[in-house]
Amino acid sequence: MRPNMVRIGALEYSVVNESDEANYGNTDIGHLRISVDPKLPEIRQRETLLHEVLHAVTDRYLADDVDERVVRQLSAGLIDWMVANPDAVRWVMGG
Ligand SMILES: [Zn+2]
Repeated sequence: MRPNMVRIGALEYSVVNESDEANYGNTDIGHLRISVDPKLPEIRQRETLLHEVLHAVTDRYLADDVDERVVRQLSAGLIDWMVANPDAVRWVMGG
């Protein structure tokens, strides 16, 4: 089940359903709100949440803006690795 919130350091982002023809999802840094299109196939929703989390993480921890293309490539690479290697992901998570 998709989470209703994610923590990025001290910040708590709400995760909401929102359909948008132009985007799979969105991150509102100011209002701490991540939206994901619930009409997407589940794997695309999962990748979109990871993508939006990367936007939130890079905003909080990196000094410079990160290009959308880089976030897209990282989220695709990470979700591919995570889906293909669930045991390794569990190990990385410490459990
Ligand atoms: Zn993006």
